[in-house]
Amino acid sequence: MKKTSKPKSKRPAKRKGKKSDLHLQNLLSADHPDFADLLESFHFDPEKAEILLNGERMVLVDNKSLGIMRRELILALGYERARAVLSRTGYEMGTADAELALKLRHGENFFEDFNVGPQLHALKGSVRVEAKVFEANPDSGEFYSEFYWHNSAECHAHLEQMGISHESGGWQQIAYASGYTSVFFGRPIIFRELECIAKGYDKCFLVGKPASEWEDSENELRRFRAESYPKITASEKTSNTKKRVNKNRLIVGASAGFNLTLHLIDKVASTESPVLFSGESGVGKEVFARELHQRSRRAEKPLLAINCAAIPESLIEAELFGVEKGAFTGAEKSRPGRFERAAGGTLFLDEIGTLSFSAQGKLLRVLQEGEFERVGGNKTLKTDVRLIAATNSNLDMEVEQGTFRRDLFYRLNTFPVHIPPLRERRADIPVLMNYFLRIISEKQEKNITGFSNSVTKLFQQYHWPGNVRELENIIERGIILAEAGEAIDIQHLIMSSDRVLSKEDIQNKDPFRAFVLTNSTETPAEEIGKQLLDSGLSKEEINNSLIRAALERSEGNVTQAASLTGLSRSQINYWIKSSRSKH
Ligand SMILES: [Zn+2]
Repeated sequence: MKKTSKPKSKRPAKRKGKKSDLHLQNLLSADHPDFADLLESFHFDPEKAEILLNGERMVLVDNKSLGIMRRELILALGYERARAVLSRTGYEMGTADAELALKLRHGENFFEDFNVGPQLHALKGSVRVEAKVFEANPDSGEFYSEFYWHNSAECHAHLEQMGISHESGGWQQIAYASGYTSVFFGRPIIFRELECIAKGYDKCFLVGKPASEWEDSENELRRFRAESYPKITASEKTSNTKKRVNKNRLIVGASAGFNLTLHLIDKVASTESPVLFSGESGVGKEVFARELHQRSRRAEKPLLAINCAAIPESLIEAELFGVEKGAFTGAEKSRPGRFERAAGGTLFLDEIGTLSFSAQGKLLRVLQEGEFERVGGNKTLKTDVRLIAATNSNLDMEVEQGTFRRDLFYRLNTFPVHIPPLRERRADIPVLMNYFLRIISEKQEKNITGFSNSVTKLFQQYHWPGNVRELENIIERGIILAEAGEAIDIQHLIMSSDRVLSKEDIQNKDPFRAFVLTNSTETPAEEIGKQLLDSGLSKEEINNSLIRAALERSEGNVTQAASLTGLSRSQINYWIKSSRSKH
């Protein structure tokens, strides 16, 4: 089904008018769907001093104490930073509840799913939500809504502690609604309170629409990230402008894990300490390293990145430290290495665990004394380079096994920063989806309107073994396969090896399974390894079955069986002898 391109007006056209009216009724009527399933997931257990909501621990708190805490935060941090802290907690809770909603109501009816949020608000005693306008097309991501919020606990607390304000008071709840809706639509949706109890109105009035359709939505988006943690210095301000001009990849995220990582980076940026990033492949270690460089005093100087695993062991030292003419065959002229070229700046070494032992020794000397020689040279050179390293392997284990130098590990590990995998920071998914959609469709000069509801849901469920990089690649494929003016739908993400599947193909299968199968970044060998581990067979049994299969295929030829299994002939002969004696 082709969809028309997105209208230019700020409010999406009511081309699904009838549907919207029906949905509006759903949201307006308190008994549809009823609260039963939500109420059932509430458990009060005074004997254990425990209140649970869908397995999550809850606490009954006096609204007054929340008000006092807010006042204290404002006094301690200032108005804007206090608001940012409350906004982030609200946003995070909103995304968590959206995941709960998608789980609880199994995604059969978008509006029943969506209604969990307003209903949770009511159940928790936060606010009674009344929808005034609700125009949403979950298939294209279009969204415009107006709500009345009655009896907002947060706004009453704000009013009580701060008196009538010129600004609205629903900081946490507004961010909650934004986080909640962003997960549903796979793009940042922002709510603003235009009228508020804290401003002296008898109820609050909110408008919610995509961030791109608000003016100055940067403020809210920044509050959802950790951007208000750092005290922004003049040099950071210029480096930020420069970043925009350079069109460098921006760092985007909103989850607690992301914010903590950014917070650590901000702490260490102004120092000269080496930093060691760890995390799975694809989590964005280089993006974080660039951010660190941008926030450091070295921002105006170069940042050179090198993937140690991509360079042959024999060449890595020449690459890092430079080479003198005639040092080895092929070294026809002298050239500087990365340490010289990055002078005054930062050097980022990815996959540092793959460095040769000898290169590790030289690196340690640079870190300790700031000195090195070019390969084949005897002049000692001084360097002024900040080192950032990254690994996706477990370096402590490699130290234990003796493949990585302990002293170098300790030096690098002065300031370790772990970047959590994407599946542990799902609140980042909607912001990342929106970001990649924007930059990739701009690059391809193709207008893609957004993501369908099923794609958004699928992205929230998927375990993302390839992390942010996988998300980016999948969105890029979706943009290529979708028609201009269309939203990315599930059939744009699923490809069999020789053809693109149609929507009907997918509906006949399990779309989630089909998606996982096409996108699994695991190699067949890893897949088999996992199956073997799951099979419960002992190591010996696995070994036996492998040798037996090899002998069968080679029709008893020991030499062939040896080459098939990578074992030696004598090992195969020994196995044959011992298995005969057993049976
Ligand atoms: Zn309010």
